[in-house]
Amino acid sequence: MSNSIRQIMAKAYKNVLSNPREARFAWRMQRLFARSETRRKTVFEEEGLEVPPFLISSIATTCNLHCKGCYARANGIAADTDAPAKETLSPDQWKAVFAEAASVGINFSLLAGGEPLTRRDILESVSEVDEMIFPVFTNGTLIGNRYLEFFREHLNMVPVISIEGSAVNTDERRGVGVFQRAIKSMEMLNRENLFFGASITVTTENYKEVTSSRFIDSLRKLGCKIIFYVEYVPTESGTEYLALNDEHIADMESILEQRRSEYADIIFLSFPGDEKELGGCLASGRGFFHIGPDGSAEPCPFSPFSDGNVIEIGIRGALRSPLFRKLRDAEALGWEHTGGCTLFEHRDEVEALLNQSKASS
Ligand code: SF4
Repeated sequence: MSNSIRQIMAKAYKNVLSNPREARFAWRMQRLFARSETRRKTVFEEEGLEVPPFLISSIATTCNLHCKGCYARANGIAADTDAPAKETLSPDQWKAVFAEAASVGINFSLLAGGEPLTRRDILESVSEVDEMIFPVFTNGTLIGNRYLEFFREHLNMVPVISIEGSAVNTDERRGVGVFQRAIKSMEMLNRENLFFGASITVTTENYKEVTSSRFIDSLRKLGCKIIFYVEYVPTESGTEYLALNDEHIADMESILEQRRSEYADIIFLSFPGDEKELGGCLASGRGFFHIGPDGSAEPCPFSPFSDGNVIEIGIRGALRSPLFRKLRDAEALGWEHTGGCTLFEHRDEVEALLNQSKASS
């Protein structure tokens, strides 16, 4: 994983050479990440603790959209913006969590929700942890002049705008007009010469389209520098037919391999596709873990089970979580599965392991 991060940062640096400010930032982060790698090794040697290079953190519990198949709404993370407020960590608490994460050598935390841009107070606070980069996964409909200024001032906050491919596919899943609004946000970020990306939920129906040169050329023209391909997880029953099987995944990976050689100026990441290269699922601290809005440490956003809260046990405590250890020891991360997420498919077994670890503690 450290190799992949080095390659990603090297490519990102090349991509922003035309923008001196971004280039200085990318250069500084490259050197910082090299130090973080050493820090992770030191923590392992001195404490026997394996530290993953990144986290996924759901900082928001509300969203202004109602996308079909939204896992955050299905898992009870997200609700309407006028819904009663849920218990979430405060901006200072999130900042403290990420400061500890950086101290053990964690470089990135993907910020998700719900819609993260509904929590500017948290985004402002965590942006001060300048030893980390925060890809902010947003539906792109709330980016206006105030957020443009925010992203201009905080280069470690990288907007990643979610679309589903064409306007038809995007609006069909996300709502009428969402595609145009998301594209308008990309155009605004590009005019500011800011580094940004796109996130695409990949299904059996759109994976050929969203990995095509025609589609990637359209994103490149908009100034997009990194594309996350996230395999659809059928949290909504009856949508299992949309989840990629091994054959689709193999096909998509070989197309992406070709795209990586064709587009030197775009970073392609597939999730959990790339996990195969790394020996299976990266959840439970193997490559990352998930922090819920209230601070609960969970194996993955698609596996909302927890036996500890990072505010009480810290990042180190979460990495030593009995549930995480049981999942790693049970080699659960290599369990057979058809769709995008091992732990989602084996959620009953994960829950059983959680109950076991609670009973034995
Ligand atoms: S924008 Fe994201 S959180 Fe909001 S409804 Fe859509 S998928 Fe869910």
